[in-house]
Amino acid sequence: MSFTDIFNTNKKVLSFEFFPPKEEVNLEDTKSLIAKLAKLNPDFMTVTYGAGGGTREFTKALTSYINNDLKIKSTAHLTCVGHSKDEVEKMLNDLKAQGVSQVLALRGDPPKGETFTPHPNGFSSSVELVKYIKNRKDFSIAVAGYPEKHLEASSMQADIDYLKSKIDSGAEIVITQLFFDSKLFLDFVELCRKNNINVPIVPGLMPIRNVEQVKRFTSMCGASIPTDVLGKLENYQNDAESVKKYGVELATNIAEELLKNNAPGIHLFTLNKSLQVQQIAQNLASWWD
Ligand code: FAD
Repeated sequence: MSFTDIFNTNKKVLSFEFFPPKEEVNLEDTKSLIAKLAKLNPDFMTVTYGAGGGTREFTKALTSYINNDLKIKSTAHLTCVGHSKDEVEKMLNDLKAQGVSQVLALRGDPPKGETFTPHPNGFSSSVELVKYIKNRKDFSIAVAGYPEKHLEASSMQADIDYLKSKIDSGAEIVITQLFFDSKLFLDFVELCRKNNINVPIVPGLMPIRNVEQVKRFTSMCGASIPTDVLGKLENYQNDAESVKKYGVELATNIAEELLKNNAPGIHLFTLNKSLQVQQIAQNLASWWD
């Protein structure tokens, strides 16, 4: 089943994102967490791709587990970082051999402190990667979009033009970077439509669980925290449970508003934690009844 098939069913689509563990010893715990959240019946689940090293094998292991053991469609994130074309080809062949046929194609972020430098025999951008995968004809492709502009884009219009070339190269859906103001997403969708980007655009939502963590994530990816949200978080600074409760409330409210305004579904960045995701899914249950 392709992304197009999943998003053509007239029902709101629910998806969850996980990251692979750093150590093999934690793989079983991650599988248990994924199995727990599988009970919420997401339409698909995705697994991120690290900047290098062994965790890439765990992305493969987890997408296989989701697909073959849990019988839920899985999507492997795949990046250009540190990979030759042959290595990308091998990764795609391995995924295909285990029945995984969806990828989120990204340029990727380099290891901390380094700037992105293409592999001499690899891909220098997500557009090149999308074209390459599309050419194989055996994968359905998603790409990333940025409601607040990618940090490296010279302007919002340049970013949208670039997103359009990802779609024109064969991507079927866009999953967005995290954001905390529904208007940012709605304006982004409007701009995409004006620029003839007509594929499903799925809001990526992250339940806030820790004030310092959300400040770090947003500064790394160029997203903003609205003043009122920041004010509430600062009030709860020393009360971890209230921060998490507010994180659920905020993500639920944004999701409600976007689903009412025709968002095709929601993609939850689970941060490999279950409780907030379960609560959000429960709050939004009427959308999936
Ligand atoms: P690209 O789309 O290739 O480029 C990013 C931006 O740079 C473009 O939007 C464009 O504005 C500009 N740009 C780049 N090349 C050109 C060009 N030739 N001409 C003009 N403009 C250009 N990272 C990981 O490492 N692993 C993951 O698993 C992962 N998962 C993610 C999941 C989601 C939903 C999102 C939103 C991001 C994820 N990322 C992940 C982060 C992502 O890799 C970074 O944001 C990275 O810096 C850009 O990747 P991209 O595919 O969007 O890049």
